[in-house]
Amino acid sequence: MKKHLVFLTITLPLMTLLLSTSCNNNKKPMNAQNKVPAFDLTTIDSTIKPCVDFDGYANGNWKKHNPIPSTEGSWGSFDILDKETREVKIKGIVNELLTEKNPVKGSEAQLITGFYRSYMDTVTIAKRGITPIVPLSDKIVAVKNSTELIALAGELSKLTIDGPFSVYVAADDRKSTMNAIFQGQSGLSLEDRNYYENQDSAMIRIRAEFVKHVDKMFSMAGWNVTDPGKTILGFETKLALIQLKNFELRDPVKIYNKIPFSELQNLAPGINWKEYYKNYGLQTDTVIVQDKNYLKNLDQLVKSTPIDVLKTYFRWHLLSTYANLLPSEFNKETFHFFSTVMFGVKQQRPREERAIMSVNRRLGMPLGKLFVAKYFPETSKKKVSDMILNVRSVYSDRIDKLTWMSAPTKEKAKKKLAAFTWKIGYPDKWKDYSTIDIQNDKLVENSMNIALWEHNDMIKKAGKPVDKSEWGMSPQTINAYNNPTNNEIVFPAAILQPPFFNADADDAINYGAIIGVIGHEMTHGFDDQGAQYDGNGNLSNWWTPEDSKNFAALGQKMQEYYSAIEVTKGFKIDGKLTLGENIADLGGLTLGYYALEKSLEGKTKPEPIDGFTYQQRFFLGWAQVWRENMTNESLINQVQTNEHSPARWRINATLPLMKEFSDAFGCKGTAADNVRIVIW
Ligand SMILES: [Zn+2]
Repeated sequence: MKKHLVFLTITLPLMTLLLSTSCNNNKKPMNAQNKVPAFDLTTIDSTIKPCVDFDGYANGNWKKHNPIPSTEGSWGSFDILDKETREVKIKGIVNELLTEKNPVKGSEAQLITGFYRSYMDTVTIAKRGITPIVPLSDKIVAVKNSTELIALAGELSKLTIDGPFSVYVAADDRKSTMNAIFQGQSGLSLEDRNYYENQDSAMIRIRAEFVKHVDKMFSMAGWNVTDPGKTILGFETKLALIQLKNFELRDPVKIYNKIPFSELQNLAPGINWKEYYKNYGLQTDTVIVQDKNYLKNLDQLVKSTPIDVLKTYFRWHLLSTYANLLPSEFNKETFHFFSTVMFGVKQQRPREERAIMSVNRRLGMPLGKLFVAKYFPETSKKKVSDMILNVRSVYSDRIDKLTWMSAPTKEKAKKKLAAFTWKIGYPDKWKDYSTIDIQNDKLVENSMNIALWEHNDMIKKAGKPVDKSEWGMSPQTINAYNNPTNNEIVFPAAILQPPFFNADADDAINYGAIIGVIGHEMTHGFDDQGAQYDGNGNLSNWWTPEDSKNFAALGQKMQEYYSAIEVTKGFKIDGKLTLGENIADLGGLTLGYYALEKSLEGKTKPEPIDGFTYQQRFFLGWAQVWRENMTNESLINQVQTNEHSPARWRINATLPLMKEFSDAFGCKGTAADNVRIVIW
């Protein structure tokens, strides 16, 4: 997993793609056709008290009437807008491109339609079977020792076939203008160490199902290996237990260990690093490793593991990585385990929908270029810029008033705030994808060619200055992020749609939604992680020891508060893992609230709408963004692996921390009035 970017919610990041050209003409506002209500009263369940369960109150009826579709693991504002964007807008673009006869090789139209057609051509896919991955499998089978295998792993990594470590190029945290080479832990099929060590019955069941899944996949591939499932689970469990825990990966100082390249060989002499890096296409004198102990332990693990087990492990990752692009029995089985067992999803999406998702994921930027040309009004950029400036000035005022921070640290914090940059909508320049070879009947190869293009695009940055204009997310993504090494916040075009940003809504609703989101991303610059970076995006401590201590104490309070929340039987929020996101939610809401108040200074206060004061509507705006139904499996996955608290608790845990919420709904004297934490 590449580090650095901090996201608004759980969505997979895309690494960027493309170059050159501008986009415009005939732009319609994103929702020109029909007005979206600011806040639909029928979503409210008035039998629930807002001070006791605000999510239940604001969203209760919505939840009752919007069950999770059988093809989804969760269903809420993000999921709905994402599906709508894909199924209407992205699909519309693809369908239009499909009418073009003989698009120029390498053009967006050719890349997108070629990939789409290869995905939809199930006859060819069935006919080819696993042939496209056989050469790689044969290569793995042919290696004689772990040295040869590690060398081969360098080649496999380029094709996104995971091994026990991942190497990538990103901005150097201590010299943010330059790109450096990072090396981190990797290679777990089940996403997180928790899935291997947690003894809850739900986790034990998933592990048992995983063994069956691997066995079945090997058998379908016709690969004759004894007990592959037990073998993989056994090896990956050992691997998991030497890895840092997810919350430890959130400590940027702990995971920054710059060492001479030659030291890799001292730490893990059994791994032929030179060969790995050579085959991966990188050469370097220094590398920043996450954890030296991991390398020592990995060396022991590799030494003590029979070569046949290691080969089975790599063959499994090859098969699993490309399973969705193989004949339907492979993607059905993969769906069964990775969607049904892991996330409680009952039914696979129709193939056409999966094809759109697959193109969108792999060719997100070429598609995004067409998406913004058609749907993103330039005027949105100015509107969002103004909102950001407004939030920033409120943030600055609030820093002045903080009682827990001394004047020298306040000065530094404000300096960092003033240096904040932002991106809105889509990249200024698009990368050039035209060299990718995409053919109508070679799905697996198409995907590999895209992976290789991405890989080359990444490695050529090594040792070079950082291109600060690059994007880490495609414009059609419903999400936002903070990139600490750029000291920037980024808002893709697609999040600037209702219910996040609704041109037809009253200000209070928008301040609770998009302004809260902007405040959230800005606060990431000052959460427990972000606060360790300065205004230039460098990891360097600008805090006085006393202020550091005060900040840590506030974080500790947050951690304890969230850690006490049980989200489903046997699973609580991990206050350490979610600390940064929880700080950002509280900060974002607070900033949004005071930005709204500031916008009303010297004006007549708005009249209540539908019986709600503007302050109340502000909180309804936030609740509307975070309403979501989730399967129990998805919920368990989220608290085990993700840095974001589940949506329900982004409402119900955060709001009661604010006096402003308690005042707005008259919660004085109730449980919601008990805890108060003010950080920013
Ligand atoms: Zn966030």
